[in-house]
Amino acid sequence: MKCACVNLPFLVVSANTYFFMVQAQGIMLRDNVRTIGQMIRLYTNKNSTLNGTDYPDGTNSSEYLVQPTTYLPENFSYAQNLPCPERLPSMKGLMEVNMTEIPMEEIELKFSKIFDIEFGGHWKPKDCRPRWKVAILIPFRNRHEHLPILFQHLIPMLQRQRLQFAFYVIEQSGSQPFNRAMLFNVGFLEAMKDLDWDCLIFHDVDHIPENDRNYYGCGQMPRHFAAKLDKYMYILPYSEFFGGVSGLTVDQFRKINGFPNAFWGWGGEDDDLWNRVHYAGLNVTRPEGEIGKYKSIPHHHRGEVQFLGRYKLLRYSKERQHLDGLNNLHYSPLVSLSSLYKNITVDLHPELAPIADY
Ligand code: BGC
Repeated sequence: MKCACVNLPFLVVSANTYFFMVQAQGIMLRDNVRTIGQMIRLYTNKNSTLNGTDYPDGTNSSEYLVQPTTYLPENFSYAQNLPCPERLPSMKGLMEVNMTEIPMEEIELKFSKIFDIEFGGHWKPKDCRPRWKVAILIPFRNRHEHLPILFQHLIPMLQRQRLQFAFYVIEQSGSQPFNRAMLFNVGFLEAMKDLDWDCLIFHDVDHIPENDRNYYGCGQMPRHFAAKLDKYMYILPYSEFFGGVSGLTVDQFRKINGFPNAFWGWGGEDDDLWNRVHYAGLNVTRPEGEIGKYKSIPHHHRGEVQFLGRYKLLRYSKERQHLDGLNNLHYSPLVSLSSLYKNITVDLHPELAPIADY
């Protein structure tokens, strides 16, 4: 499939952002109306229950309801043979986010010595049985200064959540436009060679979670973690938005045939993933309220091109789903280990994932 790329990334991205700001105002208005409706309903219906559970799909209606206070007390005692609970006393809520650049060596030293991370970025709790074995996949090109900032926030958060985890940084070499989705597919296939992971987190390198109650385990449905981004004024830009950070179990990911490989350049691959999830009869959940907040590390889209062909491809998501994904992908990776992650470098080009043109 040929890439339809345009060489005006800055202008196009700015226009896109502006479009979402306008859209965000609309969403804010709509939500205000919804909140008033909800409050009237709460006051008039004595039997209404305030459940603090997550909201499915794009409707964030439960976020105005009372937050649950079901986190375990400080004196909770762990047991090595029992599963680690999901709502731990160590998960305090909003975290401080520090975007200051920091050398990787400093972070490596700190986390391997004090935080007990094994060479290669692997960790698991010792005082309880981790509920999820989570592979964190990070697609990457040209963002060396972002990686230590991400680790600095993610590692302590995942440890407080008592998850077993390891990081996979999948780096695209060569001169083709960035293919975030194909990198995720490669990362998945490589990670599964290491361990029988049961949960996959697809994580942009420049997205920093603001709340350690955003639990990075998986669930019965795929999850969109990055529901509220500072760059979109903490408002979901559109109800099918599935970008930034998402998570699927290994079974869910295999069922949808992974990500599409045909999206070259910025945009669309996350929308296609949303379509795949729904065509497979699954839904998406999101964390409620403040829990889904993220800050984005400010940067310029260095040479990244927007993929204008995405709209056409998205019209045929259903037809492409079982032709393009995990099942038509070939690649030759270069794998190396460093203190905090496994690096998988791949040179990607369209011939690696053949598919008839739509
Ligand atoms: C793109 C998505 C992107 C979203 C928000 C859409 O136009 O297709 O890939 O996540 O904008 O930036």
